[in-house]
Amino acid sequence: MSSTWHILGAGSLGTLWACRLARAGKAVRLILRDRQRLQAYEQAGGLTLVEQDHANHYAIPAETADANGPVHRLLVACKAYDAAPAIAQLAPRLAAGAEIVLLQNGLGSQDEVADQVPQARCIFASSTEGAFREDDWRVRFAGHGFNWLGDPANPAAPEWFDELHDAGIPAQWTVDILTRLWRKLALNCAINPLTVLHDCQNGGLLGHLGEVDGLIAELGELLGRCGQPQAADDLGEEVHRVILATSANYSSMYQDVRAGRRTEVHYLLGHACRAATRHGMELPRLEHLHQRLVDNLRARGLPSA
Ligand code: NAP
Repeated sequence: MSSTWHILGAGSLGTLWACRLARAGKAVRLILRDRQRLQAYEQAGGLTLVEQDHANHYAIPAETADANGPVHRLLVACKAYDAAPAIAQLAPRLAAGAEIVLLQNGLGSQDEVADQVPQARCIFASSTEGAFREDDWRVRFAGHGFNWLGDPANPAAPEWFDELHDAGIPAQWTVDILTRLWRKLALNCAINPLTVLHDCQNGGLLGHLGEVDGLIAELGELLGRCGQPQAADDLGEEVHRVILATSANYSSMYQDVRAGRRTEVHYLLGHACRAATRHGMELPRLEHLHQRLVDNLRARGLPSA
């Protein structure tokens, strides 16, 4: 098995991971969207990672999905809605037994990917690290955090797991990755859509705590029905704590909407509502929130799924 890390998507998280792995001497290759993007990348001559105002340049080789050669180890670092189409392009190159790490926020995209590549092992990740693009091929590492990785179908950690530590990527293997992803999804559902609808910073929700608490109650019911009761433990307390601790911040969904970017709503609140329907549950507050958000996005000309 080749030990090259193929990294699909050289955006915020893709750049953060690629540069740290390359810096630690690991073999890394980027997979970019198309030939135009590859040409632009080659002109730039590499990726730049800015950490505490020190910018470092990494001349990491890049290719497109239709290049030759098998892919054994792949980090998928695009948005949730891009993951399945991107994997469809790359599927012919995935070796039997290939390992794919999925960095997408929310739930649903991981299964869309796994369904397409039965020959591969899909490892789910949940990240609290923060990075953003200052420019094309230039990313700022904005918030230290942590990464949990796990495979709902196989509790054994992959043999390369310690390479993450070698590269200074804080990570832990967990058998409860779905619980972590559901918990993060629930926090997102209780906070982010309301910040868009009320046009406010996270702290603005302190004026709408009744609405927030109604959502928390329904999310708790949903998590229980989805076999994730632990993801509901003290959910309300954590939501309140996050609102207070990040009161001056704008949520990621708010920032996407403001910048006219597509949101990942389909894999967050949308996923929660689809799961409720699948279980025959009626969760009117979540449904109503979803409908209002969809209407709001449509009115702005943004995709609502
Ligand atoms: P991002 O900055 O928008 O980067 C996504 C990258 O994917 C872009 O560079 C895009 O290419 C590329 N891409 C899309 N389709 C592709 C394809 N078919 N082939 C190759 N590349 C493709 O997104 P991000 O912020 O890194 O987020 C990635 C995921 O991590 C999301 O699910 C997000 O919610 C999650 N996450 C992000 C953060 C964070 O701080 N950024 C933190 C936690 C979780 P172009 O450059 O050509 O558009």
